Amino acid sequence: MTTALSDRCPRDGCDFLPILVLIDGSALPAVHCSDACADFTWLERALADAPSTSETAAALEGLAGLRRLLDLRQDPSDIGPLLGGE
Ligand SMILES: [Zn+2]
Repeated sequence: MTTALSDRCPRDGCDFLPILVLIDGSALPAVHCSDACADFTWLERALADAPSTSETAAALEGLAGLRRLLDLRQDPSDIGPLLGGE
């Protein structure tokens, strides 16, 4: 089976490799390097589709701060999932 381990995490500015997830006993690369990047990409997309209101603007500002935090990580697991597990 070929795996695309050289593919970087698709989040802008992220250079980590996707994490491996265990599916039916085989380790396969996930799309993103971490839950944080997957959640960030999801939030970014959700906001891109949202009507532009002052709330969206505030959320975008928060997202920019989050992006800086994610870019500063030494390891993908430094920041856990952004959207709690509940
Ligand atoms: Zn990433």
